[in-house]
Amino acid sequence: MIRITDILDRISACEPEADLDLVERAYIYSARIHEGQVRLSGEPYLSHPLEVAGLLTELKLGPTSVAAGLLHDTLEDTKATMEDLTGLFGETVAHIVEGVTKLSRLAFRSSEARQAESIRKMILAMADDIRVILIKLCDRLHNMRTLQFQNEKKQIRIAQETLDIYAPLAGRLGIHWIKTELEDIAFMYLFPHEYREIANQVAKRKQEQQEQIDSIKKIIETNMADANLPCKAEGRYKHFYGIYQKMMKQGVDFEEVYDILAFRIILDTVPQCYQAVGIIHSIWKPIAKRFKDFISMPKPNMYQSLHTTVIGPLGERVEIQIRTKRMDRVARHGIAAHWQYKEKTGFDEKTGAAFAWLRKLVEEQKNLKDPDEFMESVRMELFPDEVYLFTPRGDVLTLPKAATPVDFAYAIHSEVGNQCTGAKVDGRMVPLKYELKTGQRVEIITSPHHQPSKDWLNFVKTARARSRVRQHIKAEERKWSLVLGREMCDKVLRKYNASLNKYLKSHDMEKAAHDLGYKTADDLIAGVGYGKVTPLQVARHLLPKSELKNEKETVVSRLKQRIRGRKAKSSILVKGLDDVLVRFGKCCSPLPGDPVVGYITRGQGVTVHLTRCPHALSMDPERRIELQWAPETEEVYPVRIHVLCHDRMGLLANITAAISEGEANILDASVSTRADKRAECFFTISVSGADHLENVIKSVKKIRHVIKVSRLSA
Ligand code: MN
Repeated sequence: MIRITDILDRISACEPEADLDLVERAYIYSARIHEGQVRLSGEPYLSHPLEVAGLLTELKLGPTSVAAGLLHDTLEDTKATMEDLTGLFGETVAHIVEGVTKLSRLAFRSSEARQAESIRKMILAMADDIRVILIKLCDRLHNMRTLQFQNEKKQIRIAQETLDIYAPLAGRLGIHWIKTELEDIAFMYLFPHEYREIANQVAKRKQEQQEQIDSIKKIIETNMADANLPCKAEGRYKHFYGIYQKMMKQGVDFEEVYDILAFRIILDTVPQCYQAVGIIHSIWKPIAKRFKDFISMPKPNMYQSLHTTVIGPLGERVEIQIRTKRMDRVARHGIAAHWQYKEKTGFDEKTGAAFAWLRKLVEEQKNLKDPDEFMESVRMELFPDEVYLFTPRGDVLTLPKAATPVDFAYAIHSEVGNQCTGAKVDGRMVPLKYELKTGQRVEIITSPHHQPSKDWLNFVKTARARSRVRQHIKAEERKWSLVLGREMCDKVLRKYNASLNKYLKSHDMEKAAHDLGYKTADDLIAGVGYGKVTPLQVARHLLPKSELKNEKETVVSRLKQRIRGRKAKSSILVKGLDDVLVRFGKCCSPLPGDPVVGYITRGQGVTVHLTRCPHALSMDPERRIELQWAPETEEVYPVRIHVLCHDRMGLLANITAAISEGEANILDASVSTRADKRAECFFTISVSGADHLENVIKSVKKIRHVIKVSRLSA
């Protein structure tokens, strides 16, 4: 068991000024509060936090991290509280311990490959201080080193989780030695036979391989020295799990993996690197297509190196990486290189660059003044657009940032989305447009007959939810348009004593559909409902010619008579369509000349609104049609205007005179005076159109003491 004095020594070796008192106090507190607790190994519990603290000093972390490491299990396993820790060790230490505790409490249902990536990201996204993850990794490493004391079932579960989640996480953070050790221990528990096999083979061939490496290294160094190239050559050794992975991935046996020797040559300058590769190729025959120049073409994560594979002195393959010292630092520190190189799964350029950058930041962590800010930026940089959420079963779902329970529901299943009526987040009811946050447990409440709402389109974030909602609405609208279209066609046909059903049965309807460019009779009827074709157009294709000659007097005139408050002659034209039933929106009272749109209503033809009318704006675009005013009109239309003026004798007479001179009739007027000596007048006048009204307003405005004249709508 490591002693606290060793830990203190290591800290002051890196950082002579370090606050050792904090570490000592954490040690004493941890010893006292864990007192009496025993690990499965029989050792006092304190040995665990001590070892974890020891591992943290190997990462060259400072007193805050080490103190938090000594205390990392106190919140979970003892009666210590956040208040206790904050009071004794300050907010930072307490906060880190709390973060580690939170991660320990995450209950992943499974660590299957599909989930592993999300879980790793979630852990990174949840820790608000990078030291939380470093402590968690050291915690896991010590637990793995002492895994033999757990029962077999737990050994398997913990080893699998380590292999899936924590080893790659260590890799991602660039802590290669933790990654390989975690992998080898997990490998030993998960594949004991394979592990033993490889361990035996390696042991058997150790001597032989070492001799090979030494002799090749000597050849390299001699040749470089002859060419006056100062260099450092080193053999690279593979860890057991790495060998196993390569055997599995490439479907080869141990010899083939193990026989490949790997070297790294480190030089001072870039020209030296190219010179060195030339020398290597002159000594040994290079294997075609295995030379890669990552110096002139760096990998997205900034990795730079020359790679070549040659046939060595004994006919074995020798892989050689050649690079400068600076490039070597990037290669070691930028774990991205490793991540991408060996673990090709789920990697893209964006994350590659982000991880290289993260690795650098981790290295510099001990120099960072504000770890909060650091972690915030890590999160922003790494996963700016994602949240990680739990299902009630413990699965992790990855959704875009600000995703809502509706997105979550559709991510589970289309039916869950369609029937979603509410959601619980961490047990509390939330609105459907609630923005979900990483780490939350989301439960969707469904009801079998529930329908998706169009409003959802205003807040859903995923393409999947959006398209499913649209799809559903479209289907609903078609259903609706069919009903409406049938109603409209039937109404027109009945005026000629014909019946839609008869035409449907006789397939005449289908023929009419083809004539009008529709595939089926239903498509045509839906087209009527959508307002793309008028029922009269349909009738013309169905009725005998003789029936139709009185069309103008019968259908059109009757339709037009129904236009409320209008004379028989309507001055509105529907673009591209024949006469249709037209009404004017009471909300905005459009005048000829105003920009207008039409809205196809259920069974009542078209309602005309000003294009800027709020009702028009909220209309379903599918039901909106373009309208034009007929070129000439003798009709007059009522409109209300508001006049604000100073309250003076005779002013009302001046205004009414101006209106009359403008050839507009006053249908109604009301006047009220206000306390501030101003008067408000409301007139309903009849005008022929927008231009006419404009002129009337202009002349009223010219009157002295009139402050403001405006047209009223809605
Ligand atoms: Mn622990």
